[in-house]
Amino acid sequence: MALIVTKFGGTSVATPERIKQVAARLVKMKREGNQVVAVVSAMGKTTDDLIKLAKQVNDNPPGREMDMLVSTGERISMALMAMAIEAIGEHAVSFTGSQVGIITDEVHTKAKIREVNGERVRRALREDKIVVVAGFQGVSRSREITTLGRGGSDTTAVALAAALQADECMIFSDVDGVYTCDPRVVPRARKLDTLSYEEMLELAACGSGILQMRSVEFARNYKVPIRCRSTFTDDPGTLIKEADPNMESAVISGIAFDTSEAKVTIRGVPDTVGIAAQVFGALAEANVNIDMIIQNISRDGYTDISFTSPKADIMKVRQVCGQVIANLGAREVVVDDTVAKVSIVGAGMKSSPGVAAKMFQTLAENGINIDLISTSSIRTSVVIDASKVQEAARCLHTAFGLDSSVVFEEKQLSGEELAAKAAKGR
Ligand code: ASP
Ligand code: MG
Repeated sequence: MALIVTKFGGTSVATPERIKQVAARLVKMKREGNQVVAVVSAMGKTTDDLIKLAKQVNDNPPGREMDMLVSTGERISMALMAMAIEAIGEHAVSFTGSQVGIITDEVHTKAKIREVNGERVRRALREDKIVVVAGFQGVSRSREITTLGRGGSDTTAVALAAALQADECMIFSDVDGVYTCDPRVVPRARKLDTLSYEEMLELAACGSGILQMRSVEFARNYKVPIRCRSTFTDDPGTLIKEADPNMESAVISGIAFDTSEAKVTIRGVPDTVGIAAQVFGALAEANVNIDMIIQNISRDGYTDISFTSPKADIMKVRQVCGQVIANLGAREVVVDDTVAKVSIVGAGMKSSPGVAAKMFQTLAENGINIDLISTSSIRTSVVIDASKVQEAARCLHTAFGLDSSVVFEEKQLSGEELAAKAAKGR
């Protein structure tokens, strides 16, 4: 008997019909002789709608109340899912994150899981029930309800799979796997059969939006294999696991882009010891995520520091930087939110020189100007003008030989949809 932890995203449970469809799939898995746990997201765009509702009464709502609000979305889906399963004739029970002992830190709206108890899940499985768990939420040691950041149900699923020592963690969504790039932007994108944790981690961190980054970190740390597959087909999807040392890795496995970040520049900072520590220390204290950082060459004892940060954090960034520049005697803070980050990722990059050069050259040939650059051993990222992001993704996809002969045909995404996609999963 295998223990399978599944997760169903918002699209998969968007309507009563889809909930019934998922319930039937879970019952089938159970009747094939498996123990089944299902982590569910909020129905459709519920979380977005709840956030919009909050903003209508407060521009900057307190994190604690945000969590009280948005955690209700998953509660609706879990109860409906359990009811739908019972209607087919199997026993099911739903639990909140707090009920199954998902213990997090105290950071509201982006809490990190500290510990998973899972005892109630084990007990319910022993009672032969299908266990439905609300994704995206936990409880802090001071008994406050917390949420795990957008896309956090993935992390709930992987953390539960690790705690229960599940045989598989299947992440179901409306896409049938991980692609070389988002097929709605690059119509010649190809589905990947397998991918290493490291590659998926970089893709997730760079806005691929398929899995929440934290969930991949969890999977890597506890060696939980993840299968990303479609709710609506039987396609085996993409398996994310440890890299096979015997296999030669692709130089570039995928391309990700992200339009959810803004570029912040602090101008005229006195170039003295400890300034970077002061600036980024203050931002870290305010729990602001920072991505790329660049410090320009100083002139006459003054320098400019640029970095990127999620647009969602920009209010906080302005506040913190305002104070910091007053203390440092810097000139001004400038925010540019018309930028995009494009990244190429591949484990084979380590052993193939010239990859970054090829990326820069391809962009240059296509008249795309590079603003900032950052690299890791298996990733190169550039910040460019947001209006060029689709063009950049497509020309890089072609240049690195990733194009499929089959062209994906579906509605292309609008700029707003692109930003929303990338903002999830952080
Ligand atoms: N419902 C939450 C969100 O939309 C969590 C999730 O879907 O994973 O971000
Ligand atoms: Mg969702």
